[in-house]
Amino acid sequence: MKVFTARHPEPSGPDDFCFALEGELVTMPMHVCADPACGCGSSMAGLVSAQATTGFTVTELDMSFTEYVSALRDGFTRQGWWANERDDEWLITEAVGLARAAEQLPVGMPLGIDQGEIYFRVTAP
Ligand SMILES: [Zn+2]
Repeated sequence: MKVFTARHPEPSGPDDFCFALEGELVTMPMHVCADPACGCGSSMAGLVSAQATTGFTVTELDMSFTEYVSALRDGFTRQGWWANERDDEWLITEAVGLARAAEQLPVGMPLGIDQGEIYFRVTAP
């Protein structure tokens, strides 16, 4: 299935960064603050590293949706975003949202995000 993975932002601007691990699964930011100087609104979160990156892409991984949900559960639990008392519905909704968004995008295309809107990073001709 198609999933979002961390990718060093290219092309990159002065506000770009990548603290996540190249190739790890990334998710939408859980919390976006009101500070316009903060990078949380323009970054995805690494599921393993718990670090942010402004660059990511879509990768075709040999994993089932059930395995994807399991990976999200593990990551969110480790990061404290998902407590056991929380029902699975929230987790499934997150997984479906990410999977649907990734499905519509081409594999390998450099992507960025701005306040929840995913965009294509374009290289100047
Ligand atoms: Zn912030």
